[in-house]
Amino acid sequence: MLRIAIDGPAGSGKSTIAKILAKKYGLLYIDTGAMYRFAAYLMLTTNRNLNELVDLLEEKDITFEYKNGEQYLVVKNDDILYLKDELRSIEVTSIVSKVASNKDIRNALTKKQKKIASKNNVVMDGRDIGTVVIPDAEFKFFLNATLNERAKRRYKDFVEKGVKITFDEVLEDIKKRDEMDVKREVAPLKKADDAIEIDTTGLTIEDVVSIIDKIISKAIKQ
Ligand code: C5P
Repeated sequence: MLRIAIDGPAGSGKSTIAKILAKKYGLLYIDTGAMYRFAAYLMLTTNRNLNELVDLLEEKDITFEYKNGEQYLVVKNDDILYLKDELRSIEVTSIVSKVASNKDIRNALTKKQKKIASKNNVVMDGRDIGTVVIPDAEFKFFLNATLNERAKRRYKDFVEKGVKITFDEVLEDIKKRDEMDVKREVAPLKKADDAIEIDTTGLTIEDVVSIIDKIISKAIKQ
């Protein structure tokens, strides 16, 4: 099996790198952040308390699909829901780390993630992939970068999408989410002891892919 775990704080480049690796090695890309964002989205769009939300989440059949080259989180139940931009709204982003700190929510989503990883060759990105979801992954990476650089990347994404937000707001959001993700009791954001840490500050996407690619190619040849 080939399972690649990529963890790191917001804006460290995880999803960009994961998508490239998925294509290169023919892996399924699982964006676990999108799954937590979906939990937050459900909370905002349905009037449920936390217990009801967990039950609802457990019932949902969550997968990922490509449409016109873009990845969507797909929920197939009574009707089929394709979600992408809704999950990255400012409203969802501002509550997602709080929702993700709940142990029952994490339990429900971790179960789904483990199931997918047990049946497929995957590249999965998130905060607890190397520590909790796939502790026995063939490759584990932990991407990092300075807060300023990560905020710059996220701000650029927002500007390109035409979202009205200031650089300081982006920086504050990332700082707040990182702090909650690092400090929470259940499955905090943490480098697995055996993960390879890459500081991506000042590196291009190609630089990071090349570092990871060399490590994987070398190990596969051995
Ligand atoms: O990766 P992304 O920034 O989209 O993740 C959104 C939020 O979901 C994170 O800030 C974190 O609170 C939560 N998350 C998590 N565990 C994961 C992936 C994301 O707690 N494996």
